[in-house]
Amino acid sequence: MSEDIEIEREDFVRETVRADLAAGKHAQVVTRFPPEPNGYLHLGHAKSICLNFGVADEFGGRCHLRFDDTNPAKEEQAFIDGIQEDVRWLGFDWGDHLHYASDYFEQLYDWAVHLIKNGDAYVCDLSAEDMRLYRGTLTEPGRPSPGRDYSVEQNLDVFARMRAGEFPEGSYTLRARIDMTSGNMNLRDPALYRIKHAVHPRTGDTWKIYPTYDFAHGQSDAIEGITHSLCTLEFADHRQLYEWLLERVPAPAAPRQYEFARLNITYTVLSKRVLTRLVTEGHVDGWDDPRMPTIRGIRRRGVPAAALKEFIGKLAVSRSDSTVEVQMLDHAIRENLNHNAERRMAVLKPMKVTIRNWPEGQVDMLEAQNHPGRPEMGTRMVPFSGSLWVEQDDFVEDPPRKFFRLGPGREVRLRFAYFMTCEDFVKDADGNVVELICTYDPATKGGNAPDGRKVKGTIHWVSADHAVEANASLLNPLFLSENPSANGDPIADLNPNSMERLTGCKLEPCLADAEPGTPVQFERLGYFSRDQGEGLNFIRTIALRDSYAKAK
Ligand code: ATP
Ligand code: MG
Repeated sequence: MSEDIEIEREDFVRETVRADLAAGKHAQVVTRFPPEPNGYLHLGHAKSICLNFGVADEFGGRCHLRFDDTNPAKEEQAFIDGIQEDVRWLGFDWGDHLHYASDYFEQLYDWAVHLIKNGDAYVCDLSAEDMRLYRGTLTEPGRPSPGRDYSVEQNLDVFARMRAGEFPEGSYTLRARIDMTSGNMNLRDPALYRIKHAVHPRTGDTWKIYPTYDFAHGQSDAIEGITHSLCTLEFADHRQLYEWLLERVPAPAAPRQYEFARLNITYTVLSKRVLTRLVTEGHVDGWDDPRMPTIRGIRRRGVPAAALKEFIGKLAVSRSDSTVEVQMLDHAIRENLNHNAERRMAVLKPMKVTIRNWPEGQVDMLEAQNHPGRPEMGTRMVPFSGSLWVEQDDFVEDPPRKFFRLGPGREVRLRFAYFMTCEDFVKDADGNVVELICTYDPATKGGNAPDGRKVKGTIHWVSADHAVEANASLLNPLFLSENPSANGDPIADLNPNSMERLTGCKLEPCLADAEPGTPVQFERLGYFSRDQGEGLNFIRTIALRDSYAKAK
């Protein structure tokens, strides 16, 4: 069966899956992406999604979306909905296989009872603090909990009463009876159930006890017939426990766990815990703040899903931890947008230009290419008049010789329009230049001089009489250091200038109808995407060039 499958890429996961299918171990590969709905997804999750759904697609199998909703205190319906939206946006489909660990609570409870009956689990009344002390350390063995000596009947009785809600939180746990002296701390009688009197987004107040990740995860995999359970390296130490439990419950299948290296990106934090803090402490404007490394954030920024997948497709799926440079992500975004984004003209920091010799009241409609390298993307007509906006930065009062833009007596080409020479300028009371007085050469329409005269600089412009006004947000890296967590708290490494908000930007008229989520290139300035909602607000998806060195 593996013969006719087209393999796009190779890594240890795909190798394993292919070998297992070839050996007839499984008829079909079944994977799952198992987020806990306690936050929205970040770019690390995107790697896991692309791997799980990608492997299933490539090998003709299926991938489940399963919510690991075992801790009601931190989970919310909004996250459940948002996560589905994000996975779909990435282009993946779980078909009928939307599952919840909470769907299995009754089955998990029965299996816990089964473990108790076989002497494989017991109730423990140690406080959380004592449990820690009894567990020992890497160099010291643990000590047995008094619960280890309870009879099966006692254990069954207390466990049933835990379920019935007779005890306060923290008073009892159910633990696996494994080995308090194991070198693997996860095997020192790990907790399987804890008491929580919280309202669960799906089961309400039905349950007073909730399975731990370790007890829910492998058993859920088995219930769903998962063949390859892919998770990140930090779970490698849990694998023995995963197997120990599956051998002791009457599970319908025996999934195997494989670990791969999590995605780390420079200048970025991929930890739900820290991202949650950024939101709740107000360092950003929400999970979809375009500076956030969340899927929602990057979508709002205008990054196409294809660019993100392109980036992830280039990452190694390996067993050793590493950090990829954020420039690699940016490169994928720029490549995608350079190819796909239409070009437009916009002036972010406007300076007024009056063309002295422009015929009063005349408006020229000039043809402008939508993409310099792709004529099939067509052209548009842009109005030109005697009153323009240009960038403040494109004028220098006393320019050096090699400055090829505007200065007194300097001539430039206005993109798609005419040659124009700066004759004079006007200052305000504070001495700031506020207006340029220029002349244009009518013989240069379209941007070439019939006399063969050359100009080195070409600048963009917008007709002042026709411009639409907008706000624009320029994004800078959210963190200052390559490894924001290197010195402890990443919050201390936040870039105070991560967002520059500009108002009064002047755009060519057709941008009034820009589609949110379809980025365009503002010529010479970067790729911009219109934000959702009222008004004309643009977010710079990405600059034309790398600016990480400048962030500091
Ligand atoms: P975080 O580590 O950011 O708190 P998490 O692991 O708690 O995230 P889950 O919702 O439990 O988040 O993760 C769902 C899946 O995504 C898991 O299989 C996990 O291994 C995977 N995952 C999480 N972070 C990364 C990452 N940085 N790179 C690759 N996969 C990841
Ligand atoms: Mg986790």
